Parts: sequence; structure tokens; C-alpha cells
Amino acid sequence: MKLSKLASEIAQSPTFALNEEARLLRERGEAVINLGIGEPKNKTPISAVLASAAKLTSGEVKYTPPDGLPSMKKAVIRYTEENYDRLVAPENISITNGAKQSLFNIFYSILNPQDEVIVIAPYWVSYNAMITMCMGIPVIVKPEDGTFTPRFEDIEKAITSATRAVIVNSPNNPSGVIYPPELIQKIVEMCEKRGIFMICDDIYHKLTFDRNVAVPAYHFTKKEVENSNIIVVNGVAKLYGMTGFRIGWVVAPRELTRVMTNVLAQTTSCVSPLAQSAAEGALNGLQSVVEALRLQIQNNRDVVLQELRTFNGVRLIEPAGTFYALPDIRAYSNNSVEVSKFLLKKALVVTVPGKEFGMEGHLRISFAGSVNDVTEGIARMKWALDPTSPNEIYIGDKKMIRDWM
Ligand code: PMP
Repeated sequence: MKLSKLASEIAQSPTFALNEEARLLRERGEAVINLGIGEPKNKTPISAVLASAAKLTSGEVKYTPPDGLPSMKKAVIRYTEENYDRLVAPENISITNGAKQSLFNIFYSILNPQDEVIVIAPYWVSYNAMITMCMGIPVIVKPEDGTFTPRFEDIEKAITSATRAVIVNSPNNPSGVIYPPELIQKIVEMCEKRGIFMICDDIYHKLTFDRNVAVPAYHFTKKEVENSNIIVVNGVAKLYGMTGFRIGWVVAPRELTRVMTNVLAQTTSCVSPLAQSAAEGALNGLQSVVEALRLQIQNNRDVVLQELRTFNGVRLIEPAGTFYALPDIRAYSNNSVEVSKFLLKKALVVTVPGKEFGMEGHLRISFAGSVNDVTEGIARMKWALDPTSPNEIYIGDKKMIRDWM
């Protein structure tokens, strides 16, 4: 079959592939624990359910304007004012099918073939695929070994005449680190000086632990959104645990928003009003739901830290936000794909190989689920990997003996 070369070379999303594998194993009755997917276990906030139900029962479920329902935009305007200290117009906002579509529309709207985007490792898996789909070239900047924070000099060195943007995801998926404010400031200043975009993937910006905060890039410029180089992506998937509603948004200058709106109108027309109304309900409803989720995840993070520290030889940089940890497992193996497969086969635990995030020798563990899953999942990992741990464990109701070391 003759297919597009570009499309055929796009890799399967590893997190979704692993999720499917876990689902099939569970269907066969296996006691799988999924520490792969980044999806909180909470119920949809009631304000979101009610707003969406009201829309549904109105029977008026039609196309919306391609850039979003005016009332949803109003909620985003308020969110931007409250969280970013910026006044924006409806023309600066586009509502999309998840933050994923926000990012794709940005890349599609700013890149010409062979244009470059700087991507900082460890990075979220989809950036490179999306940039490639838009005929651009991802240019990877790696931090020094043993850290997940890049050196500003290395980002600056990667800039060429073809660079169009730097993408910054802090709090970071997969490492959980928050970049220091000084680094954000330097990137903002560099992007302004060089006339390139700074794309801030802020999808985890309120999921921070202890006293850590992710200072928004806008904090370091006096420019208004309209003439700023900063583009902000956000959504309800992580903060409200509303992954299935598929709502994201972009805050950007009008000219870019207009182009992105045309892209969205020609590809998906608009976002379902049922989902937009749900997101609007979440944004306008009681914000204690975000704090409740944050506290639950912080508690899970504490469990992860406590348990992983008992492994012999595993090194961990403490996650300051998100719901991911990226332990260094090189004490056991340099091949994260092999280790991840081994853990699924022997201990029925799903993890994601660090290789997928540009960080070989590490494993991403999601602690978005229940505290029981997190505790048991890590106990199984310890049993499977750490020779100093007891060699017996119960997986489901089966007693398992470790016989491979
Ligand atoms: N950016 C990052 C860093 C993410 O981790 C994710 C979801 N895993 C997204 C964007 C996409 O979010 P959404 O579900 O809203 O498309």
C-alpha cells in the first residue's frame, strides 16, 4: 500500500500503546498496575458535569465558532487575568480539542519546512512528532548528566537562523522538575531579542508541591500578550482531571490566533460545545477541586519518594510538580525499553521507558493514580529489580518467587 512517507514515519504514541497493552492484560484477568498514563483518578468536578448537562438538555448542540464559545473564552480571559496577570481579548484566544491540538495548531501555524524548534530533554513525547508532521525539525537540547534542567548557554548555542521557537514545559513531563525563574527569564529575554516564539506548555502549572511555584514567562516581560513572543498553552486535562473532555486553549497574539483558527476551522470545524461547556463549568466553579487533586497527588509523590529511596542504586531528582517521577535506573540497566518490558512481564507494572522522552537509562513513573496502586506498583518494581529486596511477593492472589538473580 502506498502511504504518505511523512505520516508513516510518525511513531505510535508510547503511552497510549502501553495503556492499551495494560487494558488487554487486565481484560484477561491479570492484576496489572498502570504507572504509565498521566491521568488523575478523580471524578469530573460537579460544576463541569452540571454545565455540560445543561448544554445537553437544552438540545442546542450545534457548531460553535471555530475559535470557541464566547462564554468559554470569557472563562479563559478570567483565568488568564487571575493566573498570568494579563488582560487578553477574545481575539487572543483559541479553544482546541485538548492541549495536544493547541500545540499542533501552533506548530502548523508558525513553521515553514525545515524551520527549527528547540526542544529541551527530557521532553514530552509528542513535541517531536508534531514538529515533524509540520515539516519542521526538532533540535534537542540535553541537560548535563544527572540533572533535568538545561543550561541556558546550551539553549542559546542551539539557536540558528532557522529557529522559530523554543518550547518550554515547566513543571515538566516526564521529570517533574520546575525550571528556575532565572532560566525562564533568560529564555524570555533571548526570545524577545532574537524575535522567536517561546511556547509555554503550562498544562501542569498549578500542580506544584510544597512551596514550589512555576513562575509564568509573562512575569519577565512588560509586553502585552498582543505584541509578546510568548504563546501559552493550557487546558483542563491535568488540573481538573478532565482528560476525556479534550479541552485546551492557546493565548497568543491576534495574528497567530487568526491563522490557528483557520487551521482548526478547516480540520475539525470547532470543539464540541458539550466539552466546552464542561470546561467552562470547571473554570467558573469552585477551585477547591484543583487544590484537592494537588494535595492527593502531593501525597502520592511523598509515597513515591519514600519508596524509591529504599531501592539499592536508584537515583531520583525529587519531582517539584506534575505527577511524574523519572528515576535513574542505570544501576540495573542502561536499556529502559528492556527494563519497562521486563517490569510488565514479571511484575505486571506499566512504566514508560525514559528513552521515549530523550532520557535513556530512566523510567517514567506516573503517580496520578490511587495511593494503593502507587505503593503496590513500586513494591513490585523493587521486588523485580532490586536484588537486596525479599524474593517473594504477592501479585493479585498469586505468590511469586523471584528466580532471575
Ligand atoms: N502537554 C503535556 C506536557 C502533556 O503531558 C499532555 C498530556 N499528557 C499534553 C500537553 C496534552 O494534553 P491534552 O490531554 O489536553 O491534549
